[in-house]
Amino acid sequence: MSLNTFEEGISFRVIHNELGVKMFFCSYCTYSSPYKYNLKAHFRLHSGEKPYKCGICSKTFAQLGALKYHKISHSRNDSKDK
Ligand SMILES: [Zn+2]
Ligand SMILES: [Zn+2]
Repeated sequence: MSLNTFEEGISFRVIHNELGVKMFFCSYCTYSSPYKYNLKAHFRLHSGEKPYKCGICSKTFAQLGALKYHKISHSRNDSKDK
């Protein structure tokens, strides 16, 4: 049995798997994670919030990993141009 929960601006379900481990499931898609902070980061994809901003070109990203990956492309371009 699972109930939809709305908390801290995110909508999710909490399900215990066969090992008794708590899993957080996104209410909007099939994403799941054992960590609520991962779900919060994921949920920005649905809410449209993009809190991570590139200091070089001002492009914004929903997830920190995407910004880090983006910044690698800048460092590559910079070393080529100069
Ligand atoms: Zn989702
Ligand atoms: Zn950038």
